[in-house]
Formats: sequence, structure tokens, C-alpha cells
Amino acid sequence: MTAELIDGKGIAKQIQRELTEEVAHLRETHGIEPGLATVLVGDNPASKTYVRMKQRRCEEVGIHSVGYTLPADATQAEVEALVSQLNADPTINGILVQLPLPGQLDEEAVLNAISLEKDVDGFHPLNIGRLAMKGREPLFTPCTPTGIIELIDRTGVQIEGQEAVILGRSNIVGLPVSMMLLKRNATITICHSRTRELAEITRRADILIAAVGRAEMVKGDWIKPGSLVIDVGINRVEDDTRKRGYRLVGDVDFAEAVEVAAHITPVPGGVGPMTIAMLLKNTVTGAKHAAGLL
Ligand code: NDP
Repeated sequence: MTAELIDGKGIAKQIQRELTEEVAHLRETHGIEPGLATVLVGDNPASKTYVRMKQRRCEEVGIHSVGYTLPADATQAEVEALVSQLNADPTINGILVQLPLPGQLDEEAVLNAISLEKDVDGFHPLNIGRLAMKGREPLFTPCTPTGIIELIDRTGVQIEGQEAVILGRSNIVGLPVSMMLLKRNATITICHSRTRELAEITRRADILIAAVGRAEMVKGDWIKPGSLVIDVGINRVEDDTRKRGYRLVGDVDFAEAVEVAAHITPVPGGVGPMTIAMLLKNTVTGAKHAAGLL
């Protein structure tokens, strides 16, 4: 069996097209222009690149974006003052504080300071708390996990009643995606670095999510035939045949897994492109919410 590829890049482009239409409609019909503020503290090159990419995507769909950069030695009070100012700014519907923050800053306190209504990254403790509770709905869910659910839905695979195994329990990916799958009535098993007999557990998975950050750890014989595999991992492995000296691989041994699964995401081009698409979607949702349209 050769699995069908889940084309995250194509799906993210499709979502961007849908959002472009929606943003144009919001502007024409309701005079609304969704706005996203990005906050970058320091000059971490990777963070700068992520912020730039997010701003560029905003422009492409018609979301107004404003970038704020604070020096690496910014104080807690300075960062929180900026967040408060953005909370009060009616032209801003989403506030994205690029993580990680420099060591002197209390990340949780900064995320806590973001208004619930503008928490487009979905990391506010209240939004996460609601995600973890039965019968409560968060206003926003974190972007990478939301992108994963969107990929599964657009593949047409049912989530309800399926056995889902999640490798990894981070606050950014593993834990929230587990909660989202549970809310959608999957039966979930969450694995981590202390889990024993990993392969035996993953072999039960109708839906397998790998988010551990270990290159090609999940082998073909860890996978249930006919299952859906989402590979979140982004790992560099040395490759002298490439000009840059490395290539990117996932947490799943793709060459083996593609022969066993029915659906699989590639790395790159799977989950990666979905994260920003979901940030844009959350920002548009924030704007609709602020305008009383939801
Ligand atoms: P973290 O390092 O925060 O978490 C890794 C998780 O994997 C932890 O829960 C850890 O367990 C678990 N783990 C580590 N080693 C093993 C092992 N040998 N067996 C079983 N479990 C293990 O990573 P993130 O969740 O932030 O990211 C995971 C991967 O996803 C990375 O490659 C990252 O680059 C990628 N990523 C991709 C994104 C995207 O595509 N947009 C976005 C975010 C991340 P424990 O809790 O016990 O330590």
C-alpha cells in the first residue's frame, strides 16, 4: 500500500484563498479590517523570520498587520505595557507574542496579560483551561494543533470513535492536540519520554500524531496498516549532498511509513504551512467576534 499524501502546503494555500475572500467580504459588507499585532522581543534570527513570514501572509489575505520590536533586555513591565496598549487598541484583533521570550521575562505572565478576545495563538491559560474541560469551548485554540485537526478533516477521515495516539505532550503541540481530539470524541493515548513499549501503543492508532522532535523515530512497523499519520516533527539531519549540508525530516520514517499508512503528511510541506494559516484564521475570527458577528 502506498499512502495518499496529505498536502499541507496545498491545503494551507486553499485556506488562504478562502480567508482572502472572507476578509474582502468583511470589508465590503461590514467595513471591518482584521488586524494582527506581532510582538518580537530581541533579535533571535529564527523568531525574526517567523514574524516576517506571519506579517507577509497577513498582507496576502488583506489582514492589517503591525509589528512591534522590543530590545532583548526589555523588562517585564515594558512587555506587559505594550500588551496592555494593544489590548486597548480597537484596530487590533489578534496579539501574537513570538516565543521563546528572553530568559529574564516571565512567559506565562506575558501570555496571561493578552486579552482573551485577542489570544489568537490560543496559549492564554483560560483558553487552554476551557480546551481541557468538558462542555467548555475556548475562544481560540493553538495554531499548530488546530492545523492538524483541519488536515484530518480535509482528508475526510472521521475522528469520532477512532483510536488516536499522540507522541509528545508539549504545551504547544502534544497536549492541546490531544484535548482537541478528545473533544471530537476520539479515544486518546498520550505518550512521552517515559512511556514504555511505544511501538505496541502506536500500532493501535487509527490516527497517529508524532510530535517528539526525534528524527525518523517512528518506523513502518510502529504503524497500523490503513491508518492516518500526522508528522509534526521538524528535524535537521546531516546531508552532504545538499548545498546547506542538511535536510529536514520528520519524526516518522517516511519511506517506511508511506508503505503502511493510508494517509500521511510529508515533512516539509505537511503540518508546517498550516500553522500560519490557522493564525490568520484565528485573527479573522477575532475580528468577527469583536464586531459581534459571532
Ligand atoms: P518538545 O520538545 O516541547 O516536546 C517533545 C515531547 O516529546 C515531550 O513531551 C517529550 O516527552 C516527548 N519525547 C521526547 N523524546 C521522546 C521519546 N524518545 N519517546 C517518546 N516521547 C518523547 O517539542 P514540541 O512539541 O515543541 O515539538 C515537537 C516537534 O514538532 C519538533 O520537531 C518541533 O520542531 C516540531 N514542531 C513543528 C511545528 C510546525 O510544524 N509548525 C510547530 C511546533 C513544533 P517528555 O514530556 O517526557 O519530555
